[in-house]
Amino acid sequence: MKITIPDIPDEGLSLDIDEKISPGDGSGVAPVSAHLELQKTVQEIIISGRIKTRIKFECSRCLKEFDRDMDIPVSVVYHPIEDMRAERHELKDDEMDMGFYKGDVLDLQDVLKEQVLLSMQMKPLCDENCRGICPKCGKDLNVDVCNCERKETDSRLEVLKNLLEKRKE
Ligand SMILES: [Zn+2]
Ligand SMILES: [Zn+2]
Repeated sequence: MKITIPDIPDEGLSLDIDEKISPGDGSGVAPVSAHLELQKTVQEIIISGRIKTRIKFECSRCLKEFDRDMDIPVSVVYHPIEDMRAERHELKDDEMDMGFYKGDVLDLQDVLKEQVLLSMQMKPLCDENCRGICPKCGKDLNVDVCNCERKETDSRLEVLKNLLEKRKE
């Protein structure tokens, strides 16, 4: 969905969008529904709202794929691309993300993609209690147990213990 910037009315634009996007990391197509408010200043377009989608993640502990519903808050200011070249922009509000538009058109598909990609940069777990994969035999410890010997000690504690023992000597 492309927005022609001069067509954004002064009172702003309120949009409900249902699209399918591919975040571009091989995780396929995600259906996205979003509510976005667009406000235009002289040079900038301020977009706020929410994106709801369902994304395929890979658990960072056990590498299993899982889907998760996401509710992503959106708060981003779009500047004309000339601003980036001239480095004119000032970061007024670091709560907000920043983007750039070129010419008279803002492609909301790109806006959605960017926001979804940003939210995917976290390291997800399939479950908070995921036991992960045994580093020795590679078994998924959520479905099976193995007999490998595992040291459950915290390496920082280990260092401390060694220091204390040295003192005793
Ligand atoms: Zn997992
Ligand atoms: Zn094992």
